Amino acid sequence: MLFDTHCHLDASHFPDGADDVLERARSAGVGHFTVIGVGSLETARAAVALAERRSDVTATVGVHPHDASTLDPALESELGELLTRERVRALGEVGLDYHYEHSARDVQREVFRRMVALARSARKPLVIHTRSAPDETLEILEAEGARDVGGIIHCFSEDRRFATRALELGFYLSFSGILTFKNAHAIHDVARFAPADRILVETDSPYLAPVPLRGKKCEPAFVVHTAKRLAELRGVPLGEMETATTENAARVFGVVLA
Ligand SMILES: [Zn+2]
Ligand SMILES: [Zn+2]
Repeated sequence: MLFDTHCHLDASHFPDGADDVLERARSAGVGHFTVIGVGSLETARAAVALAERRSDVTATVGVHPHDASTLDPALESELGELLTRERVRALGEVGLDYHYEHSARDVQREVFRRMVALARSARKPLVIHTRSAPDETLEILEAEGARDVGGIIHCFSEDRRFATRALELGFYLSFSGILTFKNAHAIHDVARFAPADRILVETDSPYLAPVPLRGKKCEPAFVVHTAKRLAELRGVPLGEMETATTENAARVFGVVLA
């Protein structure tokens, strides 16, 4: 069974609820899911509720860099409370996004630092979103002691140099549908070189549908295409890639697979 390490299943994306989506994924051979609770406190609570109801779902909570400007003391303390729940296995996604820049850069940096500190005090790993800010993302992770908790670089779309520094910090690299794009040469290179015990697959549903499903609303079932491409790039059978990435995901989130 595959493990989709990053999906957004909020009602705003899937108005009929998450259960049908997850059943379709299970039929496709995807048995475990990490649902990302960002965007609002309501979304975070919904992700936690789903994980507390379904044993095949684990949850994260956090403040996406797009929403960095919404962090206030009340939200921060609520997130701290949610992080103590057993089914919340990571803090994220947090990080820097200088491409869209929906929140000011200095605010993003300040919030990112606070989130690393929160992960350390909760002793839970981080799920990192980084776009157009590779050096500053690594600098903050290094300076704030992210090594103590580790985590995941989600939707990996950087290069070998970035991957090397992230691996040194104890992070895992999670590949999304972007891996199936023909021109993603730097990402293909990292997918070949990364250690087998530090790679993961994800959909980032409802975004980033892989080839050959471009243009569709992405859902966790589609992670199979990314896993196939990863196996192909590494020259190993799909079954071996499934086992490795699923064991890695269970390790980083600290979950025992049924
Ligand atoms: Zn992201
Ligand atoms: Zn995401």
